[in-house]
Amino acid sequence: MAMDGATGGTRRGLFLESYGHFIDGAWVGGDSGKTIAVSNPATGAHLSNIQAGNAVDVDRAVQAAHRAFKTWSRTHPRARQQVLQEMARRLRARLADFAMMETVDNGKPISDATMFDIPATAEVYDYFASLPLQIHGETTDFPDSMLLVHREPLGVCAAIVPWNIPLYCTALKVAPALAAGNTVVVKPAESTGLSILEFFKECADILPPGVVNIVTGYGPEAGEPLVRHPLVRKVSFTGSKPTARKIMQYASQNIIPQTMELGGKSANIVCADADLDAAAEGVVMSTVFNKGEVCISGSRTFVHESVMDRFLEKLSAQIGHVRQGDPQDPRTQLGPQASKVQFDKVAGYLELGCAEGAHVLAGGAKASIVGFEQGLFIQPTIFSNVRNDMRIAREEIFGPVTCILGWRDEDEVLALANDTDYGLGGGVWTRDLTRAHRFAREMQTGTVWINRYYNFVPGQPLGGFKQSGFGRENTFETLLHYTQSKAVIVNLTEGPIGLYQG
Ligand code: NAD
Repeated sequence: MAMDGATGGTRRGLFLESYGHFIDGAWVGGDSGKTIAVSNPATGAHLSNIQAGNAVDVDRAVQAAHRAFKTWSRTHPRARQQVLQEMARRLRARLADFAMMETVDNGKPISDATMFDIPATAEVYDYFASLPLQIHGETTDFPDSMLLVHREPLGVCAAIVPWNIPLYCTALKVAPALAAGNTVVVKPAESTGLSILEFFKECADILPPGVVNIVTGYGPEAGEPLVRHPLVRKVSFTGSKPTARKIMQYASQNIIPQTMELGGKSANIVCADADLDAAAEGVVMSTVFNKGEVCISGSRTFVHESVMDRFLEKLSAQIGHVRQGDPQDPRTQLGPQASKVQFDKVAGYLELGCAEGAHVLAGGAKASIVGFEQGLFIQPTIFSNVRNDMRIAREEIFGPVTCILGWRDEDEVLALANDTDYGLGGGVWTRDLTRAHRFAREMQTGTVWINRYYNFVPGQPLGGFKQSGFGRENTFETLLHYTQSKAVIVNLTEGPIGLYQG
């Protein structure tokens, strides 16, 4: 067992026995001395302990980030580019390790982490590495003056991250912040901070002290003081609506800008002319990927009545082939829910769906996996005969569950798809591209996929309409959220104007 000098913790496989906060380039113990035990949701096994941070820890981190901002904001854009490229390279170099960390920390299948989480996270760092040299101002000439508009970084940015896709959600905040010359304090979710801590451990030698700091802990104890800190100039939050409302209130104290990435109730619309095999595959994937713990999962499926029976047959067959089990087995496609709270919540919705009169076409219960009796497994579930006013069709379940609703005409299905408080994702399945674009234009949602769900490409804006949030991540526009413009007007005439000379 190797001793780790940084925290004094002992390494047990992938993780240390305990982690400090990462502040000013060093690993430090928390002010309260209290820790949070982190466990593997597939087995219940204890993985490590992280600090239960408080306002004192947050203040130390923000002060360090504030000091680092003076230098980092003035670094050559090429230097920022190189740091971000190196972060991407280091992630890819240890892809298997980081994928396994996400798997044991969160319960996601190793195939999901290997296919998506780690490559997509590296892609985010690479994408923002390509942008520092493109951040520039503008000039406009007037007869007697010249307007210069500079784009400047904001200062210390707070990044508050959820538990479902930890490294990726962190990258969506850290990468643009650093690219634009800001410094960051990250507050990971209390149940899934380990991969984030390990990644910044890996990158500690390339990040100047204080440029990225991590304070772990519970939301009200560590997250709230972070957003309320007078030296924090922006907050970027990914998480639930109730927490978003609180964070917006905290942010109002010092009038700081916010980016909000919240939940969804996204609709897949299957048309009569769709390739039904491809559509069924897309719907299954949008239901079970990452155990359905994805803000943009396709949790409502609208199927044209004329193909309903054929489609449900294909859907049931495909969902029956989903391999559920040990998340560390590369063949597994569906792992356990990330926490007991989440498991109970999804199980509650399974009961609710039945009570509301929906028909269970597949799944509908907790799953028992041999050898994983402590695991928090839910069967992949299809509810049919759903009405859009049922709670299972309106509330975010955040589990491997989709609701099937029928439709007959375009206006009807668009009205139903848009009849939700959310607007994050959506899919259209049709061979008629004119119809596909008509639907895409009318869908009130931040992303619409045509004939393939979960198709992510570099620079694709991610964000929501309506109560799914505001601001966009993963795109050039994101840099505008992490910078502010400054107007400098240069007078080109000589001498006074002569206003007060009598
Ligand atoms: P959550 O709101 O419970 O927690 C998110 C983060 O906020 C955690 O780090 C938590 O500790 C922190 N937090 C909690 N209370 C806080 C407080 N009072 N002050 C400051 N911070 C606080 O959300 P979650 O359960 O971790 O994540 C699931 C939610 O995230 C779902 O609704 C999902 O749809 C959403 N999500 C959205 C996107 C997106 O891109 N739109 C991506 C992933 C997840």
